Formats: sequence, structure tokens, C-alpha cells
Amino acid sequence: MSHVITCPSGLTGRVRGMKVREERILADRKLAKSGGQVDELLGACWEETLDAGPYDFGDKGIDWGAVLQGDRFYALLQVRALTYGPEYAFALGCQNDGCRARFEWELDLGELPVRRLGDESRAAFTAGNRFETTLPDAGVRVWFRLFTGADERRLPQLRRSAGDRILSAMLGWRVLEVEGVPEKDKRRFLEDLSLRDADFLVDEFDRVDCGVDTAIEVECPECFTVQEVELPFDRGFFLPGKARTARRRDRSSSSLG
Ligand SMILES: [Zn+2]
Repeated sequence: MSHVITCPSGLTGRVRGMKVREERILADRKLAKSGGQVDELLGACWEETLDAGPYDFGDKGIDWGAVLQGDRFYALLQVRALTYGPEYAFALGCQNDGCRARFEWELDLGELPVRRLGDESRAAFTAGNRFETTLPDAGVRVWFRLFTGADERRLPQLRRSAGDRILSAMLGWRVLEVEGVPEKDKRRFLEDLSLRDADFLVDEFDRVDCGVDTAIEVECPECFTVQEVELPFDRGFFLPGKARTARRRDRSSSSLG
């Protein structure tokens, strides 16, 4: 089964659901560590580009390393929904200390809010992935870029090397230039940034970017506490059928005996 999808940037193409042969990709721990799993999966399931949107792939096929994170994630959700249907069930632990119940939550992946790439953002992206903003405290302009697949591949390594200084590392990576600050002093400038400015910058990254909102509200069935959680992406996202398969196996073996 294949299906035409339009990603948040306007990138449009034909995708198919996952096949058994993709099992190799899902099981490859080395790929998962390198962050290359998503590239491999999208490469396998993206059949044809119908409209390249803001990207210029030239005569070549789609280059997932150049594609915005928001588009990649959207395409991945669509591949998952095409493979198993839009319902996604996962287990959660209640955040209320007096409760701590484990419960299942199910949602329709098609109902997650999608943020399209606005016209201004599209123009800034196609002109070299360079976005401008002004820091409220420091009062200077900074230029930053949106994350693409190539950045996503390097994220696990960045996280490991940054340790507990992930904000500093992330800003250093995304901020291209600071007004009046030479390149060699950029890192020091960012270290000296007020947390208010840093927070503002992170909001700006989000504001101009496209993607799928994965912060969801759930209600614990035991204590009814409403809590916000990040949609989990564990093994069950790509292989949700393990429990179901086990049940089916039990049934068929008992009917045979
Ligand atoms: Zn609870």
C-alpha cells in the first residue's frame, strides 16, 4: 500500500508502509546509535518525490540529510501509520508521587498538531538556512539555523560529549553568527548569555521551525491527574504487534491441539 503525503515544509512524495525486510534496519543497534535508523527507514519507504518543496536535490534522489527534522519526523509518523494504522498505544507511569500507577494510553497519530513551514521561514531556509533574531537582554542580533537530518545524525554524539552542558553545546551548534562577535569568541559569548536570552532563543528556534507537536496531555485512570508527557518512541512504535502476535500464536496452537 502506498500513499501520497505532504510534509510540513511542502515536500511531497509517495511513501509505503514498512515491510519485513525493514526488520534489519529496526534491529540494527549500530544504526540506532549513529542516528542513521531514521535515514534508512525513510530511504526504504519513500518511493518517489513529487514536489521537492523548499529543497534542491538537483537531479539526484532525495537527500534525507538535507531535509528538515520536522519533515523527517512527519514522514516517519506517516510510514508508521501506513504500516500499522494511526492508533498508537504505549505504557506510561503516573507522575503523581502519591499514585505512580502504570497505565496504557492510546492516541491517533493523525491528530497530533502539525506546524507548517511559514512563507518567511521557507524564504530564510532556501536562502541558506539562516534565520535572524534579536536577543532581548544582550540587545544584539544573532543568526541561527534549523536542524536537518545531518544534524540529527550527530545528535547522539553531541549529547554524549556535552554531558550536563547540553544547552551550551546546542546553542553553539545552532547559532551561526553573533553581531559584533568574532567566530572564535562565539562560544564564550554564548556561555555568558543570560538564561532569559537562551530561553528566548530556544523559543525562536521553535517558532520558525516546522514539525509535529509531540507534547500530549494524558489523564491517569487511577487518580485522574492530568499530565503533559512527550510521546514515547520506543520499540513499540515500530514493532507494536509483539503482544498481539503472542496472543494470536496462543490461539492458533490451542485450536491445533
Ligand atoms: Zn495517577
